[in-house]
Amino acid sequence: MDPLGERDVAGEAVELAARTAAAYLDELDAAPVRHPDSSAAIEGFGGTLPEDGDGAMAALHELAGPGVRGAIQSAGPRMFHFVTGGVTPAALGADWLASLLDQNAGMWVSSPLASRLEAVSVDWLKDLFRLPAAWEGVLTTGATMANFTGLACARQWWAERHGVNLEKRGFAGLPAAPVLSSDYIHASARKALSLLGFGREGVQVFSADGTGSLDAGALEAKLRSLDGAPAILIGNAGEVNAGHFDALEKLADLAERHNAWLHVDGAFGLFARATPRGDALTAGIERADSVIADGHKWLNVPYDCGFAFVREPGRLASAFSAPAAYLPDAVADQPNFFERAPEMSRRARSLAVWATLRAYGRAGHRAMVERHLDLAQRLAARIDEADDLERLADVPLNVVCFRHRPAGMPEEELDEHNRRLGEAVLEDGRVYMGTTVYDGRVAFRPAIVNWRTTEPDVDAIVDVVRELAATGGGAPIQ
Ligand SMILES: *Cc1c(COP(=O)(O)O)cnc(C)c1O
Repeated sequence: MDPLGERDVAGEAVELAARTAAAYLDELDAAPVRHPDSSAAIEGFGGTLPEDGDGAMAALHELAGPGVRGAIQSAGPRMFHFVTGGVTPAALGADWLASLLDQNAGMWVSSPLASRLEAVSVDWLKDLFRLPAAWEGVLTTGATMANFTGLACARQWWAERHGVNLEKRGFAGLPAAPVLSSDYIHASARKALSLLGFGREGVQVFSADGTGSLDAGALEAKLRSLDGAPAILIGNAGEVNAGHFDALEKLADLAERHNAWLHVDGAFGLFARATPRGDALTAGIERADSVIADGHKWLNVPYDCGFAFVREPGRLASAFSAPAAYLPDAVADQPNFFERAPEMSRRARSLAVWATLRAYGRAGHRAMVERHLDLAQRLAARIDEADDLERLADVPLNVVCFRHRPAGMPEEELDEHNRRLGEAVLEDGRVYMGTTVYDGRVAFRPAIVNWRTTEPDVDAIVDVVRELAATGGGAPIQ
């Protein structure tokens, strides 16, 4: 059917969505993260493209029923997998309005509202994270594209030092770029490097040990050997296995002394700047050239959202502008954010970012981050008390790295045991978290970033792991 015939159905469609949302939100705190019927629920979706279609309400009833049952309830309080934020009430309402208004946030003329709110949001985020007010910024789809954005600026700066306008000419004639980091570097930064033409393996890592921590001496020796040739340093503020930070002050010193651009990936770690309790970890971040973070993690706005901040005024525009006769020129105080971003047409992510900052303010975000830091310490203490659990790393922030270690199980069986236990946890669905390999050992790494999470949710991590291990969720019982 032609959608023109459904002109009057839109109101009914959003009412169905609102009724579905109300019921969903009522149950979210208590519901399992993964519904027992989730696999069956999603199997019903498929078939061939309908010839005529059944209209909006038929489609939406499928989403409101099996769709909701099939969804991972990742906005709930016991989603500890990856680093997964929830959605605050303010951000949820604003995101719905962003879909309603369907703004193109690429240009001032296409959406003065979204552009204005993006400018305000970038200013407020710099304030929250205590980054210099003169820096420029932009909203992105997430930390991957924020890393891409910051590193594209680094790339342009580096090529300029070699006398090349890379945006116009490409890489021809340029030497291989020295891109240097620790082994805390995130897979998404490598992906960004590959998209930028440096290659996923075009980064050299300098690590002191099996956990990936920075060997600053070896990095410094490498920089000395470059003899003043420009380099790109990637600092990591919050790595995913245990929440570790590189020594950012040291990296800032090295960058200053050795002609390097310092880019810092703070996808979730930048939120340590929302509390003075994070000062020791983040000191020096304000001396970087580019800093990025995610919105859909610790800011608790819906997918997808991230941000990139760049020190040098105009650098974003020189890396991302795309002149064309039909596109408007920028006017002072009326920014065209497409000139600072990889995309041209863009979702109005600023509505949700602005709304959540407006709703909860500096104090609200500080309280949330501090609560999560306390919850991480509580989880660490409960793990330390349990004689069958072993914590594998310090807990500097909000990630707790541990494994199950039953009495008498030999070391060589522990990896397989924890891997199976990890599968059992996901299958069980009451809490949701994955495993990693930390310092050569398979381990859980729950990350706490959801505004709804409180003490009983964190206690459930310990209880569910021990219960599943006792009922055979780990190694087969012999
Ligand atoms: C999550 C994460 C990323 C990638 O973020 P996306 O939002 O998934 O693109 C990059 N770096 C770190 C440290 C992360 O935790």
